[in-house]
Amino acid sequence: MIRKISSLFPKGTALYLLFGLAALSPLVVNQITAYSKVGVYNELESMRHEMTFIQQQLDDLKNQKKAVEKKYQDDIGRLENKINDLTDQLVNKRQKIKAISSETTKTVYLTFDDGPSSVTLDILDILKEESIKATFFVNGSETETARTAYRRIVQEGHVIANHTYSHDYKYIYQSKENFYMDILKLEALVEETTTTLPPKLYRFPGGSNISRSSPELLEEIKELLSSKGYIYFDWNCCGDDSIGPEKTSQEIYNRVVETGLDRDRLLVLLHMNKRNAETAKALPEIISYYREKGYSFEVLHQNSYICQFNN
Ligand SMILES: [Zn+2]
Repeated sequence: MIRKISSLFPKGTALYLLFGLAALSPLVVNQITAYSKVGVYNELESMRHEMTFIQQQLDDLKNQKKAVEKKYQDDIGRLENKINDLTDQLVNKRQKIKAISSETTKTVYLTFDDGPSSVTLDILDILKEESIKATFFVNGSETETARTAYRRIVQEGHVIANHTYSHDYKYIYQSKENFYMDILKLEALVEETTTTLPPKLYRFPGGSNISRSSPELLEEIKELLSSKGYIYFDWNCCGDDSIGPEKTSQEIYNRVVETGLDRDRLLVLLHMNKRNAETAKALPEIISYYREKGYSFEVLHQNSYICQFNN
């Protein structure tokens, strides 16, 4: 067969073919080299593509991160603005309440300190009869009478306020911690007895300018209690029923009228210890005197009229 094919060509053709192939071989090598270069080039190209893709992903993520940060910054900014706004509104409301309460009719705030004792129960009876509410700055006493008084004060719609548990000047005016502990001790007793936590209203035993304590300590106590949300009340009218010699109901009434002057806001200080039976007796006269003068009777609260000696 091969012979048949070779017989078709002139002699020596195979030789020419061999030479021909030898002459072509550099081209073939070049071609192969060119092919491998194309492969590397392609690989590089695809790596470049991948790199560009990764870079794009990275840029996208960075942009997303920026957007989220901006969103939260915006949210935080919005919340901060809202908080500032609401704080302003609160201040305005407080001022309005203060202004309104100073515009309303003349008011008497009856307050009774110390006790509670059986006199407290007598006072509660009189107030019930007169349909008047008052504020009771109580001390701590765990007798049945005192517990009944705590309960009745709350149940009958009066305000129970804090006059420290012990009323012991030596102890409470030793440090702000002692004072605060005594306030908390009374709160616990009242809460346990009445199942209601009393409002954060208090009165310094002896008043907020008492000389038994240093002015510095009084300031520290005021700051500490204010930081806990408490408000203290002094008075601008009193029956002098706690300072001896003991007074008759007529004398107590006279002192209230004399010290009250013609103020529109009267924060009256009276007492309800066991020895204050004359105070209870003076009470109906005091009430009718101010009623006839057009006063109304209110209780103290966080936004009520505040009387403090240093203001
Ligand atoms: Zn007192």
